[in-house]
Amino acid sequence: MMNSKYQALPKGVSEAQFDEAIGQFAAALGADQVLTSAEHLTPYTKIMMAVDTAEHTPSAVLLATSVEQVQAVVRICNAYKIPVWPISTGRNFGYGSAAPVERGQIVLDLKKMNKILHVDTELCTALVEPGVTYQQLYDYLEENKLPLMLSFSAPSAIAGPLGNTMDRGVGYTPYGEHFLMQCGMEVVLANGDVYRTGMGGVKGDKAWQVFKWGFGPTLDGMFTQSNYGICTKMGFWLMPKPPVFKPFEIKFDNDDDIGDIVELLRPLRIAQIIPNAVVIAGTLWEASTCNTRRSDYLTTPGATPDSVIQQIRKDKNLGAWNVYAALYGTPEQVEVNWKIVTDTIKRAGKGKIVTQEEAGDTQPFKYRAQLMSGVPNLQEFGLYNWRGGGGSMWFAPVSQARGSECGKQVQLAKSILNKHGLDYVGEFIVGWRDMHHVIDVLYDRSNPEEMKVAHACFSELLDEFEKQGYAVYRVNTAFQERVANSYGPVKRKLEQTLKRALDPNGILAPGKSGIRI
Ligand code: ADP
Repeated sequence: MMNSKYQALPKGVSEAQFDEAIGQFAAALGADQVLTSAEHLTPYTKIMMAVDTAEHTPSAVLLATSVEQVQAVVRICNAYKIPVWPISTGRNFGYGSAAPVERGQIVLDLKKMNKILHVDTELCTALVEPGVTYQQLYDYLEENKLPLMLSFSAPSAIAGPLGNTMDRGVGYTPYGEHFLMQCGMEVVLANGDVYRTGMGGVKGDKAWQVFKWGFGPTLDGMFTQSNYGICTKMGFWLMPKPPVFKPFEIKFDNDDDIGDIVELLRPLRIAQIIPNAVVIAGTLWEASTCNTRRSDYLTTPGATPDSVIQQIRKDKNLGAWNVYAALYGTPEQVEVNWKIVTDTIKRAGKGKIVTQEEAGDTQPFKYRAQLMSGVPNLQEFGLYNWRGGGGSMWFAPVSQARGSECGKQVQLAKSILNKHGLDYVGEFIVGWRDMHHVIDVLYDRSNPEEMKVAHACFSELLDEFEKQGYAVYRVNTAFQERVANSYGPVKRKLEQTLKRALDPNGILAPGKSGIRI
């Protein structure tokens, strides 16, 4: 669209039709809540994926402030067959940021709907709007001296519980599996209906945030990582702040220790001796979150040699693997569990325990302890400085919590990344029985050659892992279709059937998780 006044247009929509739709959006939301200029759209195009920004440029951004406005938006979108991409806090870095999955989609930015609707300190529940950030919620709890604890992913201060849970993000506390802790959703459907899950549809109900299942089918999961509705309210559970919080680290010296680490931790995790989502972080992850840059050691391109990684370990006092976990409870509970943990490590004959007293104020221990105790921070953004250049794509295959499986995944990932001249910067987040193996594919996005390499590398990671029976739990917006295929044709057909029934014009985020009409 060389001479268009728009940065992009929705597929199949003429400029004249789009002008008309923009007029209607302005009438419904107010002209200043409808953005189309290059200057206003730029913040919504800051992708980190190895594809051209043009492929993900929106045609406009709408800032809604109420459920009624969201309903008005879907009505207009249906009338003009304009696709709309909802975001909440829009910080989905490395997964697509705030940009839509397809060029020309309108971004519906819900950040101005940012009310904390309810926090119940007795039942330990909350109900929030999409724009509420973790920092905002944390400040609210602190200001009101409420004895409750949050769980969040690493860019915690600026991201929010609703958006993170919609994309099934994870955190580092005992409540780290965020979707598991979600309870009650309000969703605007493509036809404009406002649907409440669980107990939410019952007149006079008081149990929406405490009982998930309601009556009949429980549909909450269907709205996550999908495009069947726009979530306008979400309830979730908060952990009571424990009297004692005891974070600790266990450092392991060798790359090959990963298998043993997982075997040591799994029983403690499943039995809830260690109740939180433990992290097992590799050297380069921990080094870069603490402001180590590759250029401090090397100026030549390519994969960082093992000898340099060894040197970084020595210089920065890091293990090959760095385990972060915590105990929560009364002094008596923590004492008993601490003995079990320390005895287990002693028996294993490897692994050096570091306590908070020993670590003092040093990083990365400090920010890890903050994440495990529900204090927001932005320390992990240091990852992006490892190579610089703004390129980052999360490769996040799921694994069993089994040593042999995790070891195999590390070797496979490292060999593919290194072959392409990139580094293994990875960590495992331990669920009860599963692992989110999270690898940050970091590259220089300002270098067109490296963009190509990173894209090829990411594709190969997906292909080779799939051959071994592994698939990712979440992926950036450039690879939605590819990953949907890993999960088989029956699932795709069912999802399309639902999409056609719920959204016959295909206006809600077509392409999200590969789902379209
Ligand atoms: P965060 O800032 O916590 O990472 P985002 O607001 O970027 O969260 O949301 C992550 C993804 O979840 C978005 O890209 C979008 O696909 C989906 N999403 C976010 N908010 C909503 C919503 N209110 N309704 C439906 N899907 C949403």
